[in-house]
Amino acid sequence: MDFAERYSRQILFPPIGADGQKQLAAARVAIVGCGATGSALASLLARAGVGYLRIIDRDYVEPSNLQRQTLFDESDAAESLPKAIAAARRIQAFNSEIVVESHAADLTPQNVEELLSDVRILLDGTDNFETRYLINDFAVNKGMPWIYAAAVASYAVTMTVLPGETACLACVFPESPRGMVETCDTAGILNTTVNLIASIACTEALKLLMNARDRLRRTLLSYDVWSNDFAEISTARPRSGCRTCGEHDFVHLAGESRPHITLCGRNSVQIHERERPIDFDEVTRRLIPHGAVRHNQFVLKFWREPYEITLFPNGRAIIKGTTDTAVARSLYARYVGS
Ligand SMILES: [Zn+2]
Repeated sequence: MDFAERYSRQILFPPIGADGQKQLAAARVAIVGCGATGSALASLLARAGVGYLRIIDRDYVEPSNLQRQTLFDESDAAESLPKAIAAARRIQAFNSEIVVESHAADLTPQNVEELLSDVRILLDGTDNFETRYLINDFAVNKGMPWIYAAAVASYAVTMTVLPGETACLACVFPESPRGMVETCDTAGILNTTVNLIASIACTEALKLLMNARDRLRRTLLSYDVWSNDFAEISTARPRSGCRTCGEHDFVHLAGESRPHITLCGRNSVQIHERERPIDFDEVTRRLIPHGAVRHNQFVLKFWREPYEITLFPNGRAIIKGTTDTAVARSLYARYVGS
């Protein structure tokens, strides 16, 4: 497809122009988390012609995602496809001229270097502070810009972090705001909330890629699309004494506080204690007498009332039907292996 024709409407926008469009084609961006916000970010950046996108997501597509996660369709949910894989397929269908690299993986201190290196900026499509603090540690350590974005119910918030220049995530939230934080699984979410915050975050990414630094927003911005409440808090300067960007004490990067079993919302527990290659055919044969089992090349699903186990090729599992980590661990040991 003709490059100038495809992007003609964006090239007409003077701050981008023909040269800017070529810069976008040469740009490399990583998106961590590809649920609702990540889908919107990836879709917008891919259509805008960012030449290389790396998409990292630990989850699989479910019917309840389709209301807002715009890169997925009913067949992805029926197959329980990993979101990173489904997203890459969909993007390549509307823009085959960019490179999309997908990783169906949980971002951890062990793989963060491999998964987030060699890109210019990092975008937050995650749904949890644990991963955001890891991104923040990595970005501050490398001096790499990243954009925080979050959406729950009708409320959304975003912040552009320029290490060494603006406040970082830990300047604003020294501790995870645990306890007071609602999630999409408890409070629900409007798809319009997601698209609003993804549009703002994505535009900030374009400004960064265009080197239009004077146009970047140096605030923590929040907006409630239902109540119309709008607020901005300046993030123009780091907070003095910040453990992360002030003292360069990267506890999340060191993985000191990271549990191997994590609750991941919606009545489920993720187990990622050890890397163990799984032979899906072998496990399927073993599980057939115990319940319903099905797999494709990316994921194996096993149902035994009231539980549902989703197993990935590297041994990681998401166990649905419990929030009790001991129960999850015991199910894993019984059906997958210890
Ligand atoms: Zn800081």
